[in-house]
Amino acid sequence: MAGDMLKFVGVTQAYPVKRDTKQRAEDFREIAERYGTPAAEEQAARCSQCGVPYCSVHCPLHNHIPDWLRLTAEGRLREAFELSNATSTMPEICGRICPQDRLCEGNCVIEFSGHGAVTIGSVEKFITDTAWENGWVEPVVPGPARGQSVGIIGAGPAGLTAAELLRVAGYEVHVYDRHDRAGGLLTYGIPGFKLEKPIVMRRVDRLKHGGIVFHEGFEVGRDATIEELRERHDALLVATGVYKARGLSAPGVETGGVVEALDYLTASNRKGFGDEVPAFDDGSLNAEGKRVVVVGGGDTAMDCVRTAIRQGAKSVACLYRRDRANMPGSQREVANAEEEGVEFVWLSAPQAFGGDGRIENVRIARMRLGAPDASGRRSPEPDDSAPELREADLVIKALGFDAEDLPKLFSAPELGVTRWGTLLVDNATLMTSLDGVFAAGDIVRGASLVVWAVRDGRDVAGHIDKYLRAKAKEERKAA
Ligand SMILES: Cc1cc2nc3c(=O)[nH]c(=O)nc-3n(C[C@H](O)[C@H](O)[C@H](O)COP(=O)(O)OP(=O)(O)OC[C@H]3O[C@@H](n4cnc5c(N)ncnc54)[C@H](O)[C@@H]3O)c2cc1C
Ligand code: SF4
Repeated sequence: MAGDMLKFVGVTQAYPVKRDTKQRAEDFREIAERYGTPAAEEQAARCSQCGVPYCSVHCPLHNHIPDWLRLTAEGRLREAFELSNATSTMPEICGRICPQDRLCEGNCVIEFSGHGAVTIGSVEKFITDTAWENGWVEPVVPGPARGQSVGIIGAGPAGLTAAELLRVAGYEVHVYDRHDRAGGLLTYGIPGFKLEKPIVMRRVDRLKHGGIVFHEGFEVGRDATIEELRERHDALLVATGVYKARGLSAPGVETGGVVEALDYLTASNRKGFGDEVPAFDDGSLNAEGKRVVVVGGGDTAMDCVRTAIRQGAKSVACLYRRDRANMPGSQREVANAEEEGVEFVWLSAPQAFGGDGRIENVRIARMRLGAPDASGRRSPEPDDSAPELREADLVIKALGFDAEDLPKLFSAPELGVTRWGTLLVDNATLMTSLDGVFAAGDIVRGASLVVWAVRDGRDVAGHIDKYLRAKAKEERKAA
């Protein structure tokens, strides 16, 4: 039944293992001593099957982690893949780019015991990559046609997940995206050294082969209003992500060579696809040979500094107004960036950008942490020390993203939004203020993570299915 198919798969242990706690601890000690740099199966064998799957609880998809680790350790890779695939539409992608130190691995009991977490993400990546290599990844097979169609605006992980599940449930599915390639930030935001693009494209191709119709280069707001799409489809999903870059107000910020993070990363990803990118080729969005300054302390900033290193920058510095302990980006990413030669200038903020048409230097104010703000975080404030002048040829602003003004863009003033501009949804149905228009992913949560977008896509597919079944029933009654 389609309804059952869309049901959330819980955190039960699908392959329960009953083992004595003392025995488990002994097994683990032996394994920990035995393996220096374990391969996937050996890593999986390190799982102590502790009985309290904190890792699963802290995975937004509640993946059956201990179970597929056990199957992997036993060499039953196909079963491990099938189990991991049951709760995720893109396990090999999450395995590559989830901040595991904050999610599953950060809550591994072995990590708590001081022996280093089982590398859950890389095992997940390994089993799904193996499945692709061996042809175990099934095509998307549409269920019996339901005679209803769903329009999805946004081909990021939230939209793609919902598209897959709704297609399998028998709906006609159309995905609209303003970019020329699907994938959202998986394609044009996250750098290729973290997420290889063929990995994303083979997922998209699988959906296309499953009969999902993609309208690429189609911008809702420009090419159609939301009202027009509502007339075309029985339900709509808005999964447009958040793309309004947060600004920086400092003299000289308009100087040439002070660029937006997403423009910089998109240009780099497009080059990776082999596209012609004039702004890269003329050097505007290429860090090669340059002294690069990145402003910001989140994961986008980390992607920029690490991309600049790979492009052959002369030097790369990252300015962040708080200290290391208070930065939003993953500590693992910071450690990686440091290893690669990035200089972090903690407690610092740009005060002015200097240059005659092109950026030449950044005046940097020193900061200190003051009193906590309403959120409890200590607010940065300028310190009394003299500013530093740092030479720069390229400055990348990576201060985060907010929601675009969708009611205006979509010519739909009645579309409800929160004070942050994200779409307001009914938590019980994930429907917006417009009947039959649902929303999921970053456009509801604000800038978040791929794994949460997948989770939201999974949840919203269930709600859309329920809505469309009820609608069909009403229509049958009325006929
Ligand atoms: C640089 C960067 C690096 C990141 N790295 C990581 C990471 O390592 N790990 C992690 O878990 N998360 C990471 N994230 C966050 C993650 O990418 C997002 O949380 C996730 O992609 C959100 O998914 P989504 O489907 O909601 O939106 P998106 O992926 O943003 O997709 C939205 C899609 O909607 C389309 N769209 C928007 N408006 C319209 C319109 N009007 N008409 C038609 N189409 C439209 C866009 O073109 C886009 O394709 C990163 C984010 C950034 C910016
Ligand atoms: S989806 Fe992310 S959080 Fe969940 S098991 Fe995989 S890597 Fe960990």
